[in-house]
Amino acid sequence: MPTRRFLFSLPLGSDIHERVTAFCVENKVRKGWISIIGAVDEAKLGYYDQARHRYHDRVFKEDLEIVSCQGNVSLKEGKPFLHLHAALGDTELRTWSGHLFPGSRVFAAEVCIQEVGGAPLARLPDASTGLALWKCKPL
Ligand code: ZN
Repeated sequence: MPTRRFLFSLPLGSDIHERVTAFCVENKVRKGWISIIGAVDEAKLGYYDQARHRYHDRVFKEDLEIVSCQGNVSLKEGKPFLHLHAALGDTELRTWSGHLFPGSRVFAAEVCIQEVGGAPLARLPDASTGLALWKCKPL
């Protein structure tokens, strides 16, 4: 399967995860790398507590630049699933960063998805981390 590269923008007020996931469903993107820049007026960032196997999050209700948002799309339970991390800049030019959760609302955003061909990559529960991880053969 040939790989494709997509460039598109997200509408004002949309949820990053919802819109990018919908794009992947509509275009049958099952595996790829995602890069986003732009701005949000609400965001939910967090980190994974490795000892307790749970995420902690923080909601920001302010104007923030998407300095960098990197991640990927793969399959989870047979559907496109996004894993995104972001560095968001505030009005003092400080950055907040971490795992980007659904619930981050777009002011303006430009998205690039680089599809990766070949067999689909699936996330499966991993008991040792508590996460849903890619099941690949170790290199
Ligand atoms: Zn993460």
